[in-house]
Amino acid sequence: MDGSGGLGRGRLICLSNRIPTGAEPSGGLVVALADVLERSGGIWIGAAPETTDQPEDDLTEIEGGAFRRLAFRLTAAEQEGYYAGFSNSVLWPVFHDRADLMEFRREDHETYRAVNRRIARIVAKVLRREDRIWIHDYHLLPLAAELRRLGVENPIGFFLHTPFPTALALQSMPQGNEICGWLMAHDLVGLQAQRDCVHARGALTRLAGAEELEEGLYALDGRRMRLAAFPIGIDTADFTRLAGQAFDRLPPGIVKPPRQLMIGVDRLDYSKGLPNRFRAFRHFLDLQEDWHRRVSLLQIAPPTREGVKAYDDIREELEGLAGKVNGAFADITWTPIRYIHRPVPRETLAGLYRASHIALVTPLMDGMNLVAKEFVAAQDPEDPGVLILSRFAGAAEQMPEALIVNPHDEGEIAAQILTALTMPRSERRRRHAALMEGLGAQDVHWWSDAFLTALTGASAARVGR
Ligand code: UDP
Repeated sequence: MDGSGGLGRGRLICLSNRIPTGAEPSGGLVVALADVLERSGGIWIGAAPETTDQPEDDLTEIEGGAFRRLAFRLTAAEQEGYYAGFSNSVLWPVFHDRADLMEFRREDHETYRAVNRRIARIVAKVLRREDRIWIHDYHLLPLAAELRRLGVENPIGFFLHTPFPTALALQSMPQGNEICGWLMAHDLVGLQAQRDCVHARGALTRLAGAEELEEGLYALDGRRMRLAAFPIGIDTADFTRLAGQAFDRLPPGIVKPPRQLMIGVDRLDYSKGLPNRFRAFRHFLDLQEDWHRRVSLLQIAPPTREGVKAYDDIREELEGLAGKVNGAFADITWTPIRYIHRPVPRETLAGLYRASHIALVTPLMDGMNLVAKEFVAAQDPEDPGVLILSRFAGAAEQMPEALIVNPHDEGEIAAQILTALTMPRSERRRRHAALMEGLGAQDVHWWSDAFLTALTGASAARVGR
């Protein structure tokens, strides 16, 4: 990748639910796109964090930063129906194979459609003929179809940060089929993993009746759409540097040799497999008395989407479990699980990863899982820690040198904790080096460049250029 494919002729117009405000720590996505946004004079458009009383069709400029940011504001009712409702109580659970947690309300579905229609109108007003549009994530699935309806024929790409469900799972939501039609309005759809592409193929061909002209090229109702996996990466070199600095600044006593530290970092979400992780650790402690007082789990799990019932439930379950494990095993010098229900800044995390001997990344379903990648990037290559990774994280496809586990099998996780604790340094180094090679080659800059190059190709093929 030479980095030029990403630039193209026009501006890049990025769309996501939440606009990067600059207040939050700069995530990989913003870093990856800032460069091409800046060079192309592009714009990031997203929802402002604060709501408004009246629906409005205006965009507000957010000052500062290296590229232009324009925000639209939603009413509290729109926010509720579109964001908490349809996006996070229907699409999120269904896409994570948890249709049992879906809360479908017809009015939320209507609000979701209406908000996307309104965003399309707002965006159409600022578009120029040469612009390329890149839409992010499940909040904005119908946006391209709405733009096409308004006559927009610019190149439009979409990247889904979550997993893509099977045709069967898609049918568990009312009108699940319409998602295929929404996808077809794009020139390019990017998914995280090969497994997602397989699922999308099933949905597109079997549910929607699309034709696959060649691998990953679909046709339906006169539209063509290319679909492929673009596994998102992290800013690997930058994270490694950050971890080295942050490690030196950690407060003393985080790790007291010979005690070993296991770390878990996850938004408190039911897809992250936290209860099974705690139960697996308990199982390990039941079996391995020798390791009592010699290993502890630091679990960072900041709250997210509070007020959605499934999230309140998982919090209660987890607090109960942590209490039980600590109640059964802790003594005055040792607490087996330290559970932190608060966000931790990226810099601190980077240092903690480096101080940890093991990362437990055991989601039941996850689009990618960047924590897995950050943990590896943060290690000291001479004496690296071991990654235990769920086969249901998109990252597992790229990281076979991790200890891959089935997150439902607590016995297997417990066995792999022991493997990791006792793994010889030579094997740790070998695995880490192989993982780092992948993380270096497919970092977040590779990702945005590969996607934008493919978008240019896909739209040029459509208009015959
Ligand atoms: N993160 C953070 N502070 C926290 C917890 C998480 O900065 O307290 C960051 C973490 O470093 C990672 C991201 O949030 O970059 C989580 O991404 P991931 O892909 O693992 O999961 P997601 O939250 O997107 O489902």
